[in-house]
Amino acid sequence: MASLYHLAPPSPPDGNAAPPARQQGCVLAKVSNFNDLRRDIGVGPMRRLMQLLVGRVVEAVPGAAVELAARDVIAVDFATARPDALAHVVGLCRSACATLIQIEDFSCLPKMVASGAIAPVGGDSTLLVERAEAALADAEQAMAAPRASLPGGVEERVVAEVDGALDRGEMVLHYQPKVHIRRQAIDCVEALVRWQHPERGLVPPGDFIPATERAQRMERLTLWTIAQAITDQRTLRAQGHDLRIFINMSGHLLADAEFVRLACAAITAAPDARLGFEVTETSVIRDPDGAIAHLREFDRIGVRISIDDYGAGLSSLAYLKQLPACELKIDKLFVTQLTSSNRDPLIVRSTIDLAHALDMEVVAEGVETQAALALLSVMGCDMAQGYFISPPLAPAPLAAFLAAEQHHQATQDVRGSFTRRAAGWKRG
Ligand code: C2E
Ligand code: MG
Ligand code: MG
Repeated sequence: MASLYHLAPPSPPDGNAAPPARQQGCVLAKVSNFNDLRRDIGVGPMRRLMQLLVGRVVEAVPGAAVELAARDVIAVDFATARPDALAHVVGLCRSACATLIQIEDFSCLPKMVASGAIAPVGGDSTLLVERAEAALADAEQAMAAPRASLPGGVEERVVAEVDGALDRGEMVLHYQPKVHIRRQAIDCVEALVRWQHPERGLVPPGDFIPATERAQRMERLTLWTIAQAITDQRTLRAQGHDLRIFINMSGHLLADAEFVRLACAAITAAPDARLGFEVTETSVIRDPDGAIAHLREFDRIGVRISIDDYGAGLSSLAYLKQLPACELKIDKLFVTQLTSSNRDPLIVRSTIDLAHALDMEVVAEGVETQAALALLSVMGCDMAQGYFISPPLAPAPLAAFLAAEQHHQATQDVRGSFTRRAAGWKRG
């Protein structure tokens, strides 16, 4: 690791001595809430905070030259042969700095924006710094863009509404069972948040989660979800239903070391908790090293990792292999069309084979018909989730559903159509 980021050697006089693949890079990491923090903690502590951040970057990127380039910007110069070095160093800087930091009596959370440039060793170093500055300016603009593009600060309003709903106890969790097709048993459920609005009724997550995610403000809602799921799990267990609860995890939280610390603390404080996190591949690809390290921390404390919406976004086997995931969920896009499309059954079957080869169980989401369930069963899919089995339910109706073993109604009939479909599918 250390050898990857040692400093660029002086340029060779003839320009030929350095191997062609060797690159020099410059990453600039800026504390975007510098002024707010300085107002809160004062000038002296802020200076010490910046020195502390420099120290963290020195540790995170060994061998690089790290300095405070401006009052709120840390510059990292490095040389490397690693092809993905720029994204890697940017990720290291972000995760080294964006954590809760104690300075004297204050704890503060620096918000980091980082970007940079890379060029062959021996090139114009001024040009390299200028390109890094332009990349940082672009990154700052991109961070501000989604908010600016929405009139009247929609995201801020939604975030404030979600905060208010949490304060007033208006958020609720519904749970959708994942049925094990072969065993015809339900061992786990997915928690899906709803807002029980006093006038608008039950508001679906699609109305408030995307805006809260764009504002990167999912921490509070997700920590509440973890705590509520643990409470509901205990109630269900007392009624004889011991279920692992899977919680959806937004991408930006996976890169947030402070959130990970708080989530791990909440989970380890409840030794009886049996949880899982559903994460999308796209959220891992954004900052693979940070996300994978954090997923390993969750895995270490017994949280199972499931890859959600597989096939809907970027799908990369290289990343999948690195994740400590034990479950792959095929996106409902492929499952709802399963029996009416020629292409989707092929995609689903090869996904099931791929997941099994990687030692993962497969869940098909969006199972709406008996025909789809039958076909999935033939294809060797392990679990099914969808309206055909059960919609998401509040804890009390869920307990009633489980007590009545209602899922047998859906899964038993599958056996009838199983052989006919199996023959057809295998011929195809
Ligand atoms: P998801 O995690 O992929 O959840 C599956 C969605 O599909 C749920 O919608 C569920 O109600 C719906 N669904 C279930 N069975 C069927 C079916 O047979 N057919 C069809 N067409 N749809 C089905 P919901 O509850 O509206 O949630 C939408 C999305 O909101 C979730 O997608 C998830 O990305 C997000 N979400 C929900 N709760 C949370 C949460 O607590 N945290 C985070 N970060 N995201 C959440
Ligand atoms: Mg999900
Ligand atoms: Mg999904």
